[in-house]
Amino acid sequence: MDWLMVFLVIGTASLIHSLLLAERGLPVTRVISRMTLQQILACAVGEDVIMNDSNVVDFEDDGDKVTVILENGQRYEGDLLVGADGIWSKVRKNLFGFTEATYSGYTCYTGIADFVPADIETVGYRVFLGHKQYFVSSDVGAGKMQWYAFHNEPPGGVDGSTGKKQRLLKIFEGWCDNVIDLLLATDEDAILRRDIYDRAPTFNWGKGRVTLLGDSVHAMQPNLGQGGCMAIEDSYQLAMQLDKAWERRVRSPIDVVSSLRSYEDARRLRVAVIHGLARMAAIMASTYKAYLGVGLGPLSFLTKFRIPHPGRVGGDFYRPCNAFLMLSWVLGGNGSNLDGRSLSCRLSDKANDQLRNWFEDDDALERAVNGEWCLLPYGNADGALKPIFLSRDEKQPCIIGSVSHTDIPGVSVALPSPQVSKMHARISCKNGAFFVTDLRSEHGTWLRDNEEKRYRVPSNFPTRFRPSDIIEFGSDRKVVFRVKVVKDPQKIAENKEVGGILQAVS
Ligand SMILES: Cc1cc2nc3c(=O)[nH]c(=O)nc-3n(C[C@H](O)[C@H](O)[C@H](O)COP(=O)(O)OP(=O)(O)OC[C@H]3O[C@@H](n4cnc5c(N)ncnc54)[C@H](O)[C@@H]3O)c2cc1C
Repeated sequence: MDWLMVFLVIGTASLIHSLLLAERGLPVTRVISRMTLQQILACAVGEDVIMNDSNVVDFEDDGDKVTVILENGQRYEGDLLVGADGIWSKVRKNLFGFTEATYSGYTCYTGIADFVPADIETVGYRVFLGHKQYFVSSDVGAGKMQWYAFHNEPPGGVDGSTGKKQRLLKIFEGWCDNVIDLLLATDEDAILRRDIYDRAPTFNWGKGRVTLLGDSVHAMQPNLGQGGCMAIEDSYQLAMQLDKAWERRVRSPIDVVSSLRSYEDARRLRVAVIHGLARMAAIMASTYKAYLGVGLGPLSFLTKFRIPHPGRVGGDFYRPCNAFLMLSWVLGGNGSNLDGRSLSCRLSDKANDQLRNWFEDDDALERAVNGEWCLLPYGNADGALKPIFLSRDEKQPCIIGSVSHTDIPGVSVALPSPQVSKMHARISCKNGAFFVTDLRSEHGTWLRDNEEKRYRVPSNFPTRFRPSDIIEFGSDRKVVFRVKVVKDPQKIAENKEVGGILQAVS
């Protein structure tokens, strides 16, 4: 199964894009799976004109017609030949000779899972950055999430007998739940792997009655989500050019060769710029070291300065100036070529009016997540601990102690353990945020945040915690929970997800 996302609107730094688009009343980023897109296109042209299993090995252009030769010896004649046969194009090779593609340094696993994250209504597309590896996830609708896992390694790698999923769980071990949960929810046979190459766009796209289109002439890195979009734009431009020649046929004979050259002229510059931007986006995604504090060697002291990603700084600076102009060019293409057609696409969804707020305020984004907060037992091999569900009702705090406290308002959770005090801690919710308050317990309440800092929370003072944080009651690390926000608490209650999480982190 081959899945690929085409950002119908635009794919990278999607929150910035969405914001800019929303401000102009345009739809936000939408992602469609390759198979769905193929079905739409196949329906549009009519399935009867598509011939599968037709491996083109050669062609002959005699000036009046082109003949293609298939692997099985069959020959087909036509007025022109469009080589849309991908990055390893035979048509390109036959036209211009063999050239090497450029390896990006990264192999990429792609997968699709039946999975609905708790924040599905607020975040549709996400990039998680790491040292020499990164992970992208995207909502593709119908309860499915698509993901890409990039890993820096030489090309040609083969997965061992334990399979792709096991390897990915190892490579991304310790990453946040958003990544691990998706990997766990994906079936082994829904994972594909390919090494990422691109090809610098060339000046020559065709000769005579033969031209190239899409990856065969400008394969680009996937980080901007534009390779497929550019292939679609190429097709549109080509169809428009041929249509013009067809309309002129009453006055002059159809000039296929000039139409093809006009198509190539119209596309060359735009595709080259977007190819360059895609390479830039790839560099940005793979050079996020200082903030992460890994791979810096003797410069690791830089970590404490919490240097932000250059993309974020650049984006903040660039956004108010001319980001919209650039993005609307990437998005809208050569507007003048659309011959009076509107630049806006027909997707009717508009961005949520909270988008700007979520973009600027991480807390607001977290509060907007429409999921159930719970504490999942962590590293609890004997299964003695059970998940604890937290209420957003501010009058229903959760009281943690070694015994039940039915006399106090709220939900009482008894955790009989030598280091848990009778009345140990209170977990409460205020304005959608969750806090833990240590109630002067003897052995303390401990918090480990996602930067792996472990500290004792002060007594009688509410301390905020967040998804993926780890809370320990007592200092012996026996009563440990991981904070998780889930869309479907029923699954947790039935213990369907807990096993996976423990397996992933152990
Ligand atoms: C991991 C990844 C993620 C991506 N994400 C996005 C994204 O989000 N958005 C986006 O717009 N783009 C994305 N892309 C880029 C996108 O996949 C390509 O740009 C797009 O598929 C190019 O389309 P194409 O038709 O030119 O080539 P292809 O999709 O490669 O199609 C070429 C076709 O030609 C056939 N073929 C090859 N040789 C022959 C032959 N000799 N005879 C007959 N048929 C032949 C192949 O079987 C294939 O069906 C991504 C790419 C990767 C690798």
